[in-house]
Amino acid sequence: MGRYTGPVCRLCRREGMKLYLKGDRCYTDKCAIDRKSYGPGQHGQGRKKISGYGIQLREKQKAKRYYGVMERQFRKYFEMAERMKGATGENLLQLLERRIDNVVYRAGFAASRKEARQLVKHGHFTVNGKKVDIPSYLVKVGDVIEVKEKSKGMERIKELVSDSQRVAPEWLEVNSEGMKVKVVGLAKKEHIDIPLEEHLIVELYSR
Ligand code: SF4
Repeated sequence: MGRYTGPVCRLCRREGMKLYLKGDRCYTDKCAIDRKSYGPGQHGQGRKKISGYGIQLREKQKAKRYYGVMERQFRKYFEMAERMKGATGENLLQLLERRIDNVVYRAGFAASRKEARQLVKHGHFTVNGKKVDIPSYLVKVGDVIEVKEKSKGMERIKELVSDSQRVAPEWLEVNSEGMKVKVVGLAKKEHIDIPLEEHLIVELYSR
């Protein structure tokens, strides 16, 4: 599947907020948002007026970029969210949070979702003891995600787990020594560390 490979800080500048796409750098004064708070490109400082549709579109783009999901897959999540019981917007956020790459990142086993995606793809994680190498795999309540026995000795993984300052959300029970995380609940909007107005995304797709 196609993936954005351009400069990621540009994505944050386009959305006008930190999307935490670059790991540790996002928490330092090297962050591009702290240095240049206007949009990217020649007209970045001039873009001001934005229509109702534009606001909804930006919200969707922000969510896609934050989770590193492309349009087609994002649309699939929306359709799944519509078929689920409850509010579509909340269901959508829950589905995105249940991606294994997101869980690995949230647990502090990767510096960014991009790195989490790579680690999963390279087969360093198991779910309930079985290898899972698909970053979009959706975990469920009760699942245990663990660094594969063979990978526990990898320098990068040891460094990530020991250096992580990230506090995992309450729906994840992290065991850093065991390099595993148990899903004990479902994510709620307040667990997401950027402001996301999911109802705008629902409105956009309902046009
Ligand atoms: Fe770049 Fe991270 Fe700052 Fe975004 S939050 S602009 S990815 S350093």
